[in-house]
Amino acid sequence: MTDYSMYHALGQGENLDPNDLNRTVRPAAPQFQPPTAPNPYQPGAGYNAPPGQQYPPPMGGPAPAQSPGYAPYGQHPAQQQAGFSPAGPISPADDGGLAAQMGGMSLGADSGYGTARRKKKDRHAYHQVDAPVGSSQAFNGIPPAGTPATGYLNSNPVLSPGQFGSGGITPQMGQFPAPANSPFNPMPASPMEFAARGGVMDATPSPTVVSASGQNKVSPEDMPSVPLSRDSVQQYFLNNLYPTFERLVPPPATVSFAAFDQGNSSPKFARLSMTNIPATGEGLRSTALPLGLLLQPLAPLQAGELAIPVLDFGDVGPPRCHRCRAYINPFMMFRAGGNKFVCNLCTYANDTPPEYFCATSPQGVRVDRDQRPELTRGTVEFVVPKEYWTKEPVGMRYLFVIDVTQESFNKGFLESFCDGILGAIYGAEDDEEKDENGEVKRKIPAGAKVGFVTFDKEVHFYNVSPALEQAQMMIMPDIEDPFVPLSDGLFVDPYESRSVITSLLTRLPQMFSQIKNPEPALLSTLNSAIAALEKTGGKIFCSLSALPTWGPGRLFLRDDGKHPGGEPDKKLFSTEHPAWRKIAEKMVSLGVGVDFFMAAPSGGYLDIATTGYVASTTGGETFYYPNFVAPRDNTRLSLEIKHAVTRETGYQALMKVRCSNGLQISAYHGNFIQHTFGADLEIGVVDADKALGVTFSYDGKLDSKLDAHFQAALLYTTASGQRRVRCLNIIAGVSDNPKDSLKFIDQDAVYTILAKEASTKLATTSSTLKDIRLGLTEKTIDILAGYRKNFLSQSHPPGQLVMPERLKEFSMYMLSMIKCRAFKGGSETTDRRVHEMRLIRSMGALELSLYLYPRMIPLHNLQPEDGFPDEKTGHLRMPPSVRTSFSRVEPGGVYIVDNGQQCLLWFHAQTSPNLIADLFGEDKTNLQALDAYTSTLPMLQTHLNAQVRNIIEFLRTMRGSKGLTIQLARQGIDGAEFEFARMLVEDRNNEAQSYVDWLVHIHKGVQLELAGQRKREDAGEGGALSTFTGLRPSYW
Ligand SMILES: [Zn+2]
Repeated sequence: MTDYSMYHALGQGENLDPNDLNRTVRPAAPQFQPPTAPNPYQPGAGYNAPPGQQYPPPMGGPAPAQSPGYAPYGQHPAQQQAGFSPAGPISPADDGGLAAQMGGMSLGADSGYGTARRKKKDRHAYHQVDAPVGSSQAFNGIPPAGTPATGYLNSNPVLSPGQFGSGGITPQMGQFPAPANSPFNPMPASPMEFAARGGVMDATPSPTVVSASGQNKVSPEDMPSVPLSRDSVQQYFLNNLYPTFERLVPPPATVSFAAFDQGNSSPKFARLSMTNIPATGEGLRSTALPLGLLLQPLAPLQAGELAIPVLDFGDVGPPRCHRCRAYINPFMMFRAGGNKFVCNLCTYANDTPPEYFCATSPQGVRVDRDQRPELTRGTVEFVVPKEYWTKEPVGMRYLFVIDVTQESFNKGFLESFCDGILGAIYGAEDDEEKDENGEVKRKIPAGAKVGFVTFDKEVHFYNVSPALEQAQMMIMPDIEDPFVPLSDGLFVDPYESRSVITSLLTRLPQMFSQIKNPEPALLSTLNSAIAALEKTGGKIFCSLSALPTWGPGRLFLRDDGKHPGGEPDKKLFSTEHPAWRKIAEKMVSLGVGVDFFMAAPSGGYLDIATTGYVASTTGGETFYYPNFVAPRDNTRLSLEIKHAVTRETGYQALMKVRCSNGLQISAYHGNFIQHTFGADLEIGVVDADKALGVTFSYDGKLDSKLDAHFQAALLYTTASGQRRVRCLNIIAGVSDNPKDSLKFIDQDAVYTILAKEASTKLATTSSTLKDIRLGLTEKTIDILAGYRKNFLSQSHPPGQLVMPERLKEFSMYMLSMIKCRAFKGGSETTDRRVHEMRLIRSMGALELSLYLYPRMIPLHNLQPEDGFPDEKTGHLRMPPSVRTSFSRVEPGGVYIVDNGQQCLLWFHAQTSPNLIADLFGEDKTNLQALDAYTSTLPMLQTHLNAQVRNIIEFLRTMRGSKGLTIQLARQGIDGAEFEFARMLVEDRNNEAQSYVDWLVHIHKGVQLELAGQRKREDAGEGGALSTFTGLRPSYW
């Protein structure tokens, strides 16, 4: 196994300039500085917190059923046994319910509490090792004897595979130990050699076996654990880079890792459902898996990662293939001494443009290769000349469009939104960052401008020219035929006009306190906003607090919440309103997009299907606050405005994905407009959090001697006003035997693609919600049955559910999908459903993973070191997560549960008064004393308070677009407790089965399929669910 610590030792301390063309060493190891909360507390000082401190239960409460709930402060019962804890202990009190939930299946002698204490290695006792295909040596880092010296192994004479495999690398060896000019190597790599290119495999994948029939033992511990799959890998990536060419399957999407771009795009930008692809469509069908690519082109980087190189080829633009127009990339191969380059996507041999010519070495590698990021990095950005423009690129126009209607003012939403904008543009006064010249660091790039519009029944524009004393309001009264009532002073540099803008936003709530118009004219407002952005394009940030019932495009209460027959009419999930559809299209064509901040202060209907359609179609986002309460939601609103304004954003975008001959694009899933099939995707605005899915089909057979290539190109204008193309290059191996491909599955990409597909299907076909859920269930069975039928070399007893190692947690994610608000059965407001369906289409892998399976972290038994940087590594020591099941909840326990959309702080009714005081202050000694609208923790001088604030700061960095604030869910007190129950996705809830029942159900489907008796349409939810009727867990 390669010793990556070697690289780190070499890289550390180097002053690396990513644009330094002479740079020859690897980048430093991830110098991830854990975010820590502002902290008056110094560990070890002023607080007497011996590890053995107990949080006794309050007096007078019922006697605790089991001591683990009152575990000594600073002790993980399970962790002491297993090194890392997959889950907390199950108290015997809960065992009865759990056993019942499993329909009388035996838990086995060592079930329950004892199971949780089993050692880690014991938990793998049920995993049966599948005999590896080909040479197992392929996985140990050293290629098998006789392996041809392909590009994947090192054709660079300086670097023999042995040297590389042993981790010996010196700065003289060049930045990229694995030269990538390989696809046309005369001795191509076999799939297994492809696998061996860097020799880093986690382990030889073997199937995972869960006994899942009534006759056999089922222990909850045997079910693949999502928290375990995340936590165990996280430790590794705290200290190791992810080399994008050597590693073959990315870490789970929720894991924090620093990628080292070796010519293959980082999984943060692109994840393939499998990094080794069956050669034929038939082979792919036998796996039942989708061949898909998840793309998040502007994904954020983290500390320890090199900036994306920005390359300028002047007026000629970047070199491209003459036939397929692919951009130059590390996998194009130079021939004829450098005079030709062969396209890796279409195999066309292009003449090298004279200005780009460079001689090649005897090995066929361009001499200047290591100095050329476009030939060595998988993700690059090209500045592009005029022929790529549709209009003169300028710094982005940020237009803030503010709802000043009655409801907005009354509920404090107007004031919160104005405050949020001020914070987003200028930052809070005490956190102003200064640059090296002592100037305030700009939140909005130089060249970008801001403007302000307010609306109720009328639209008001503001002249915020720096020459004025005060902003001037211009009323645009003609909502039937909107126009822009001023030519100068609408868009200004926010720093030049700081005092005018600050005064305007501070006064706005007061200005509209007396007017109180109840009805917003949103469509007219948006039409006049795009009139203001017509010449330049740009981005709108729009608040809305009531159903827009005034003027053209007025909407009415389509959904009264009554849905006879259970599920709402599908029409309520989309809009047929021609004016709203038209404005969305118009925005995209002008290079405009919108983010909405929608608050329904009284839980009212906003017809998000229609209003939010504009955001989703233009590439924007809707931030939705059902039941907005200012004291609770202010902080979150501010965080989200700030994030939306300051995240990397581009506008006027076009996107295109290219793939190797033999493959073709079958569909795109995301938020954009595509006028005809095969045309470029048109996107009004694109930002760091947005992802889209692409699926591929076969139009021929792939050559397993070659690799498959993919290139995604995003043409856009940056917020600072530069027209660029961001290029993502992805390579995958090809196998004649699809069994090989199963070893290279990225399950996060698989379920993400399936989720996006399902959401698209719901929006664009006649499929009902029930059809969608049935489809997801059938797909899960298809995949596991396909595996068992076609690829399992050993025979397994029929009572065992066998799943590929790489899809171990896949079934759990699929169950969560059936339970999520977008797709679940039962009642749900259409606003929330539609909102979440669209979220699924735009979310990246990290955000979707959390959305489907939340992180749940116990806080009542933290170890003293948890939540503080590790002295040796500097990384924040995160406590382990537990399975999201009520069976894991301990009496007296306190848990953080974060699904990336909301973060709950759940308290058991018997929480110790000491713990409450340590978290919230000495005056708070019982749960009733806490403010229900608490959204942040106070800053206290206690160990526990500092730990939890640090943990929250860390979680804040590991999310998608939503701001993290906490919401209290006190057992028996807060309504949010129902949300907590909903988020425990391993339990029976959200109108669907528990994890155990689900596996039993899937297994039945697999058995029927194997026996040739499966009836696809009938085999849905019905059968297995009814078998276990009446066996609800005791809690809900
Ligand atoms: Zn080409």
